[in-house]
Amino acid sequence: MTFDARVARTRERMGELGVDVLLLSVGPDLPYLTGYEAMPLERLTMLVLPRDGDARLVVPRLEAPRVVPRPDLFEIVPWDETDDPIALVARLVGPQSIHAAIGDHTWARFVLDLQRAVPRATFDRASVVLAPIRMVKDAGEIDALQAAADAVDEIAVELRSRPFVGRTELDVHRELVERMLELGHERSNFAIVAAGEHAASPHHEPSAERRIAGGDIVLCDFGGTMRGYCSDITRMFHAGDPPTEVRDAYDVLLEAQEAGVRAATVGTPCAEVDAAARRVIEKAGLGEFFMHRVGHGIGQEAHEDPYMVAGNVLPLVAGHAFSVEPGIYLQGRFGMRLEDIVVATDQGPRRLNDAPRDLALVG
Ligand code: ZN
Ligand code: ZN
Ligand code: ZN
Repeated sequence: MTFDARVARTRERMGELGVDVLLLSVGPDLPYLTGYEAMPLERLTMLVLPRDGDARLVVPRLEAPRVVPRPDLFEIVPWDETDDPIALVARLVGPQSIHAAIGDHTWARFVLDLQRAVPRATFDRASVVLAPIRMVKDAGEIDALQAAADAVDEIAVELRSRPFVGRTELDVHRELVERMLELGHERSNFAIVAAGEHAASPHHEPSAERRIAGGDIVLCDFGGTMRGYCSDITRMFHAGDPPTEVRDAYDVLLEAQEAGVRAATVGTPCAEVDAAARRVIEKAGLGEFFMHRVGHGIGQEAHEDPYMVAGNVLPLVAGHAFSVEPGIYLQGRFGMRLEDIVVATDQGPRRLNDAPRDLALVG
């Protein structure tokens, strides 16, 4: 979809919701509509996109050269060091009582200053307008997600023949970050490496002290951004032969993940993807050890709508992209998670990751 088409779709939705103006700063909404990503700095960048009328990109003069001009889409309004960008945006918004939607990632200082500068405006989150649009990925976005998934798949396969024992979690973490960059990611977003008892903490920070030893299970959950779209994969490794308890739990995990993916058909509520995976783990008597939702949407952001969680009645449509990542965590002992990115299509769920999903034995 072109930027023009996205803006047209956005304006249509603003009309449906009675939103008069969209105000976008840092975060993924602005690049989604214009191709320009604001710098996360104290100088305000803000797209003022009225439902009717011309859009303007208010940008610090020193950052204006970074903007690819798209005169059909927006006019660039640079401001100088001594200008007041809040007053500038307020002038563009106007004094009348209007309904504004402001980017969810906008810094609180700018939101508060704007609320004071346009006291008659009411504010909503921009996600009210944009989340349902951004949630449904077009072919180009799915290609970008696939390319990012291919890169992390390659790393997950390499890991199977890499040494683990004797290395620290941080050392493996560094390797993951480096490989993501080498394979075309512009940045790494996270690289969780959790050995043994640490794997029972789903968002463990890799440690410089913890060395991987024989008998450890190792959880690697890593992802980054490539061509503006995110990767996210979890694979499990075991140093030496796993004990029966770990092997059995892993079989349950594998079946749960498969059930979650199979459930992800067009028309199925997001909550059912969670429930399908959870039922398998509950049936095995391990339900209490799976304490998080089964997945999150993915796109320009590592976590975005739609969420695969109990209570989310939103039915899947073709183009929804999300993770399916059940886990089993026994505090103080060990943990495991298995994660793929899946796209709902009219032909059924399509996994973007295809690295082997077995518990890989490593040395
Ligand atoms: Zn997570
Ligand atoms: Zn992950
Ligand atoms: Zn994830």
